[in-house]
Amino acid sequence: MFKIVFSRVFILLFVFIIINNLYSAVQFQSPTDNPYTKICDGIATQEFSSTHKGIDIWNGLGWPIRAAENGKVIFVGTVSGYGCTVVLEHADGYFTRYAHLQADPDNKTMPLDAPVSGTAIIKGQIIGHQGNTGKVKGATGIHLHFEIRTGWEYGTAKDPRSFITKCLPNNGKSKKRGGPGGDQPDETYDFEDESFPDVSTENKTYMINNYIGVLNEGYSLSSSIMICSNWHAISLVEANNIVPLLLEDNCRILFIPTGGLYGLSDSLFFKSQLEEYVKSGGVIVCFAQQHGYDYKVLPKGEELGAFGWLEDMSCQNASVHIDVDSPIFAGQTRVEPNVNVDG
Ligand SMILES: [Zn+2]
Repeated sequence: MFKIVFSRVFILLFVFIIINNLYSAVQFQSPTDNPYTKICDGIATQEFSSTHKGIDIWNGLGWPIRAAENGKVIFVGTVSGYGCTVVLEHADGYFTRYAHLQADPDNKTMPLDAPVSGTAIIKGQIIGHQGNTGKVKGATGIHLHFEIRTGWEYGTAKDPRSFITKCLPNNGKSKKRGGPGGDQPDETYDFEDESFPDVSTENKTYMINNYIGVLNEGYSLSSSIMICSNWHAISLVEANNIVPLLLEDNCRILFIPTGGLYGLSDSLFFKSQLEEYVKSGGVIVCFAQQHGYDYKVLPKGEELGAFGWLEDMSCQNASVHIDVDSPIFAGQTRVEPNVNVDG
């Protein structure tokens, strides 16, 4: 009898421990990602450091800010330096803080579309919008300052990078403090004498609604960083999800990164999606691929003749042959001159 009771208690305890662990494991998402569409919405413009207790993410004015995890609202209002701010409490003693939020035009001390303090929030729910309240560089300093904290009165800041593993490219501008996100809300740092890129608010708002799709194949991260560094919003798209990108989000440009077509050249589904995308008004910008035959998956690709970089001789010595005389070749003493040939 004792033995049976003991084992039941043991099993119950074991089940409780498993359920408790499942229930409490926090899994934060980037607060600028839309969980229902794409990944990689947002560029990290300033990383976590000893003097910067969060990560700065730039998308543009009014971009929806979403709860990084299920939780409860414990603060809504204005904090010195942080501006309009929302703080959520999560399982396992974690807290997230969302700062510089856009202010409610009717009550400048409250974030626009802010949730009510004390209410439960589900992951991905909109809790505010990207703005430039608090200590940022004026009208152009639009970004989200996002913190993950623990401890008494959420006094211990953690690096959000160690929780958010999905891509949040850093465009490298964070080293030169001054880009959007060049804030220091935890200190009394003054930005007034720093230079700042001249990107108008109107331009950014345009970019939100006109982001560039980047195929998430090949050197997609390098391509994303290149586009992001020109202050353009991007969204990584999967090879099996191109047409919805165009139709739902009206994305007009699709970048195919270097090597992005590798392994896709025989996919009729991928080809049909690209054709539908172009027929619907989309533009494809395709970078160099490994093989010439990779290009045939592009719309009208059968008519394209090209060498991939693996097939390209990349040689210089006697690399071309002059077949027909022309004034262009005046001064040439050889019929097979040395010319750099690439791609
Ligand atoms: Zn910040």
